[in-house]
Amino acid sequence: MTGIIVHGGAGSWTKAEPPEALPPLEKAAKAGWQILNSGGSALDAVEAATILLEDHPLYDAGYGSYLTEQGEVELDAIIGDGTTLNFGAVAGVKHVKNPIRLARGILEHSDHNFFIGDGAEDIARRLGIELISNLLLVSDREFSRFEKRYEQTVYGTVGAIALDNDGRLAVATSTGGTRLKPRGRVGDSPVWGAGAYVNQVAAAGATGKGEQIMRVLLSQRAVDFVEEGQPASQAAKSAIANMLDLLPGAEAGLIMMDRHGNYGAAYSTQAMPVAWVDGDGIVHTAMNPDFSAV
Ligand code: ASP
Repeated sequence: MTGIIVHGGAGSWTKAEPPEALPPLEKAAKAGWQILNSGGSALDAVEAATILLEDHPLYDAGYGSYLTEQGEVELDAIIGDGTTLNFGAVAGVKHVKNPIRLARGILEHSDHNFFIGDGAEDIARRLGIELISNLLLVSDREFSRFEKRYEQTVYGTVGAIALDNDGRLAVATSTGGTRLKPRGRVGDSPVWGAGAYVNQVAAAGATGKGEQIMRVLLSQRAVDFVEEGQPASQAAKSAIANMLDLLPGAEAGLIMMDRHGNYGAAYSTQAMPVAWVDGDGIVHTAMNPDFSAV
């Protein structure tokens, strides 16, 4: 049994770019699925799916990310392995095209888990990952939005969860953070337990307002609910409900998978585009996913 689910960020997508949001997710889910089906690991699958979405200008990750108040791109990413409980994470990276690749390098090769800014970029150099100009991460669209000081509550972070043939779960989250964030601001995405969490039982990845997600450790909470016996579809909903009890009006979404390949998704925003692959290898997409009906 293998499986993969990817998301493109929670928010008011229906008012923004609805028709554009799903096809790249479908492509990313398929790419991850092919890796799983040719014997690749869950880590390989979530990394490959996330790289495709980082490279796509529509999402707030890698190229085309939202700009900071200063007009730069600052990237955060995390990748985690449920079998070993190990993860690699980076924050405030400005010269790496695919921060999820750097996070994976840290997971595989470092004695440490989480690096920021220049130090993270030193590791990139050591791992042979090319450093590029920050300008190469800025898309024309985000630059013109920046010039207009355009604000919009679409959280365009990307994320992926996969289960491989060896029963290993992995999770990845990658983001440019919130639009017009102050320099140095880091949200939930690269924070273990907040933007992503995985163990041998289940995996969860979050998107939304990082300041709120971090306060309730949203991803870990969702996995806790699975460990307490809830199906993944319900655990995602319980975690969002729990967040709303503690922080009324909080804006966030979650994708989940348990070790048997059952999916979950929930969000407190208007929509959260996702793509996933079912047991027959069919890719599905939805702006408003609900796995309790599947
Ligand atoms: N959670 C991300 C952050 O706060 C934003 C997003 O999900 O798009 O940095």
